[in-house]
Amino acid sequence: MLKQRTIKSLTRAVGVGIHSGQKVEITLRPAAPGTGIVFRRVDLAQPVDIPVNTHSVCDTRMATTISPNGDPGQPKVQTIEHLLSACAGLGIDNLLIDINADEVPVLDGSAASYVFLLQSAGIELQNSPKQFLRVKKPVEVRKGEGKGLMWAKLTPHHGYTLSFQIEFDNPAVSATGQHYVFDMGSGQYKREIARARTFGMTKDIELMRSRGLTLGGSMDNAIVVDDYRVLNAEGLRYDDEFVKHKILDAIGDMQVVGHPLLAAYTSFKGGHALNNLLLRELLADAEAYEIVTFEDERDAPAGFAELAPAW
Ligand SMILES: [Zn+2]
Repeated sequence: MLKQRTIKSLTRAVGVGIHSGQKVEITLRPAAPGTGIVFRRVDLAQPVDIPVNTHSVCDTRMATTISPNGDPGQPKVQTIEHLLSACAGLGIDNLLIDINADEVPVLDGSAASYVFLLQSAGIELQNSPKQFLRVKKPVEVRKGEGKGLMWAKLTPHHGYTLSFQIEFDNPAVSATGQHYVFDMGSGQYKREIARARTFGMTKDIELMRSRGLTLGGSMDNAIVVDDYRVLNAEGLRYDDEFVKHKILDAIGDMQVVGHPLLAAYTSFKGGHALNNLLLRELLADAEAYEIVTFEDERDAPAGFAELAPAW
């Protein structure tokens, strides 16, 4: 049987929120089979639980933000996508996350620190079948037109692949690879995707700062690009780090559905908003998906039965 996973022991991280600039501590705890991933705001007089699911997403403008039932008036946790991506990359289904502020620490701007934390805590196989969400019908969402066109789609596939295309009108970005295809069954998440950092353009950063955003952002947790070049002294971690970070984000955004996907994901210039819209569109059609388990591991797609680094 392909089993659900949690972590063996609790682990902690302290850092700043990239948008809030606030110092925050999170504690990751093991959780029972079927729990899914649940954030708990422990800084409030009454702790509030926020289960991660498609409809708990309440804001996707700068990052993926959740609140109970997606109610914007309720306590939030923002920027969940890198931690969720690390969970997906390690095949973790069940986790309780205590957090004492409203934003997940950005750490180094990638998912690598979370992969390290989760692996240090140890991965526990649970005696319950892992539930995959198998896409049965193509689902696509689009926004804009002409140069502003972006789209994302899911098509049936016995496995889980992600294909991403970016197009930035910036020489420093366009000089790098702008298209990448990643196969989750390859076992290469930790090596090929997890280390890709978030990025920002200097002119956008000034604008966002004036609106009280990216207050915690710095060259310690993001690639910063001006009109011509990468400003970080150490340069890029991958030749195509920008598009790989978009795949890292997409893996985290798709994990919000509560199950690893069996699908081919493709995106052209998409982002957090389109990713959540895609999941909502998928769930709106009961014929478009089904939940499946693998009693015999040999029936699962290649690579899915192996322990970390992937699945
Ligand atoms: Zn990101």
